[in-house]
Amino acid sequence: MDRERERKLLEKLDPYGEPYGQSLLRYFVPTQKEDPADAELVSHKLMIRAGLIRKLAGGIYSYLPFMLRSMRKLERIIRSALNTRGAQELLLPAVQPYELWRESGRDKKYGPELLRLKDRHDRDFVIGPTHEEVITDIIRHEIHSFRDLPLNLYQIQTKFRDEIRPRFGVMRGREFIMKDAYSFDEDEDSAGKSYQDMYDAYTEIFSRCGLNFATVEADSGAIGGSYSHEFMVLAESGENNLVFCNHCSYAANQEKAELLSYKFIKGQKGTLEKVYTPNCRHVDQLAKFLKVPEATIIKSMLFIAEDNSPYLVLIPGHREINTIKLQNALNGVPMRLAEPNEAESIMGVPMGFVTPVGAKVPIIADNMIKEMAQGVVGTGEKDYHFIGAAPGRDFTVHSYFDLALATEGDPCPRCGGELSFKKGIEVGHVFKLGTKYSEALGAKVTRKDGSETPIIMGCYGIGIGRTIAASIEQSHDKDGIIWPVALSPFEVALIPLQVQNDSLMEKTYKLFNELIDATLEVLIDDRDERPGKKFKDADLLGLPYRVTVSEKSLAKDECELKERASGKITMLPIASASEYLKALRDKALN
Ligand code: ATP
Ligand code: MG
Repeated sequence: MDRERERKLLEKLDPYGEPYGQSLLRYFVPTQKEDPADAELVSHKLMIRAGLIRKLAGGIYSYLPFMLRSMRKLERIIRSALNTRGAQELLLPAVQPYELWRESGRDKKYGPELLRLKDRHDRDFVIGPTHEEVITDIIRHEIHSFRDLPLNLYQIQTKFRDEIRPRFGVMRGREFIMKDAYSFDEDEDSAGKSYQDMYDAYTEIFSRCGLNFATVEADSGAIGGSYSHEFMVLAESGENNLVFCNHCSYAANQEKAELLSYKFIKGQKGTLEKVYTPNCRHVDQLAKFLKVPEATIIKSMLFIAEDNSPYLVLIPGHREINTIKLQNALNGVPMRLAEPNEAESIMGVPMGFVTPVGAKVPIIADNMIKEMAQGVVGTGEKDYHFIGAAPGRDFTVHSYFDLALATEGDPCPRCGGELSFKKGIEVGHVFKLGTKYSEALGAKVTRKDGSETPIIMGCYGIGIGRTIAASIEQSHDKDGIIWPVALSPFEVALIPLQVQNDSLMEKTYKLFNELIDATLEVLIDDRDERPGKKFKDADLLGLPYRVTVSEKSLAKDECELKERASGKITMLPIASASEYLKALRDKALN
């Protein structure tokens, strides 16, 4: 295309300085036919194939122009929801002195996900995985009076987390862009309002993005309370198991889902008896052999706390342990399952034969075991089990907690209704921090009565790349992406079929200008390619409205509209096409 024509196409800019229109002849959107070898998720494959991202190293991606347009749209939606609620944007450094992490006590907690580095003077730094420390450092220096609160500051910025398994493209990257916001309040009441504001902002943001999402109660660690919510895009491939009550509005991450009205496993007390149980390696085999329900088989698992102290954890055979609940039960101390050699050296027997009977390590057990009368436990010997075991009589349980993972059909902790499950991708997280960082770093304000109080904080994150990937994961078909209008890099794919036909091209460029004058964003495919190729690429790129101009349609002064999501085809008079499309677009955005 001649440069002059090209410049003309780019002449009109939106209020943010982005061109309303681009020509595929020149636009840098390198599509490819093959799926990348390392991609498991559809969204990852499509993001590579549609020229949105390119991998530089494991978990580190470049965002190409097509992707960046979508990201900018998401960012604008986020900014408007936050700005109208009084949050103020700033930008913090990505590189942070390690000293701040020592001060907050997170230097050790964060582990190998924290990328540490040294400068030329041998001073320690990290690349920020999150910014609680840095923002609290600013606040402790600048804010001293209750009059300066409440305050909410946010940024949209690059983070680095050395994820153990970066995967799914930008969905779980090592370098990624996050919107992170931090609120500062004088008292609980005000902090609760700030939290609610952000909760509402997030609901608005993900609704405006056109995403099918759910808000669930999330684990808030040792801080407690239901002061953490995650915003989950619902998708089969999601890494999070979500629990929903069929009866009330209770929704939670499985990590968090409580089991309040659990059933005790009861029965008549028997006597402890050692029986021969050959070749019973798994709960189901043992239950079958002994002709007892799996629920009466007590699994004994050895866990090691961060300070290396061991705990024997008991849970009924038909249940899985929820490690998050276990950690919270032990005041938030990180816990891990013992390695086989550790189990053997601590318990004196191989992992599979561990028994609570006579155990020298503290025992904690799931609530359901409390009234068990005829449990089955290990004996410390291969091929033998105790039957008739009763806690309290045959072994001592130090404390009982709710430790089991909720499963399908469990009772709802709010109303007793039944729980069912869905999968989700976490795109946003709102979290009440309390005074953890303000106390550690000394961020306080003077109250009206002259007393000093640590500032109450909240933090709020949205993954920019992950939200876009999740949108694609949720909305695509075998041919490509199906963008929601709000996040789509452009709105209209304008396709002239016979580019050698000057009069057809003149009419198409005229339509292009009319669309742009109507504030529609247009990607025109003025390449000299066969129709099949153009349509295939249009499906892959997935813009909501495909408008085709052909010699045939022009014979009737028409163009053809095909809506990507529904496949619906409408012939539009070319003279009123822009008006029609504008109305369609505006309706989709509201
Ligand atoms: P996850 O459990 O998925 O690791 P997280 O709890 O570590 O997430 P937060 O610390 O709450 O995540 O971060 C806020 C938001 O940042 C998340 O909701 C998510 O959208 C995004 N995010 C977190 N980790 C990544 C990552 N590795 N790649 C891309 N986005 C991420
Ligand atoms: Mg994480």
